[in-house]
Amino acid sequence: MERIGYNEYIDDDGYKRKKQIKYSNLVHRQVAYNNIFLKNRNNYSLPFSKYVVHHVDGNKKNNAISNLIIITREDHEKLHMAKERQKEIDLKKLILELSKEKYSNAYDRWTTEADKELSYLFHEGRTTKDISELLKRSGGAIWSRIKKIQARKLECPTSS
Ligand SMILES: [Zn+2]
Repeated sequence: MERIGYNEYIDDDGYKRKKQIKYSNLVHRQVAYNNIFLKNRNNYSLPFSKYVVHHVDGNKKNNAISNLIIITREDHEKLHMAKERQKEIDLKKLILELSKEKYSNAYDRWTTEADKELSYLFHEGRTTKDISELLKRSGGAIWSRIKKIQARKLECPTSS
């Protein structure tokens, strides 16, 4: 709990609370009740206590009227599930972008040249991490390529 004024504080969940209001001391609920619920009373079939007040931008301290929506518990859950799913998609995109940037050859085919370079570095005793940085491919890609080259050599022992 963090006190921010005479009768205002931020609770352990990050919400602003203000004492002295009858039904709830949560500031975002007070703002939503006075400025949205009461002014659009006909839009809401349930009593205010049955609704959740959601912060649109995810910032629990941003209690601007435009940042709040009054929504049923059910719809609120749906909203958050959709948000989580979007986050996962964004995360996957980001990871892909980052790995493309860091390992710029990660999705390129292995050319004969690259294979030769890899064999050379491997037989020189370089670590996978070293080779990964030199050839700009992920450690996993390096490792699976080394195994492939070795398998090929076993099949055809005369080639080098
Ligand atoms: Zn919410």
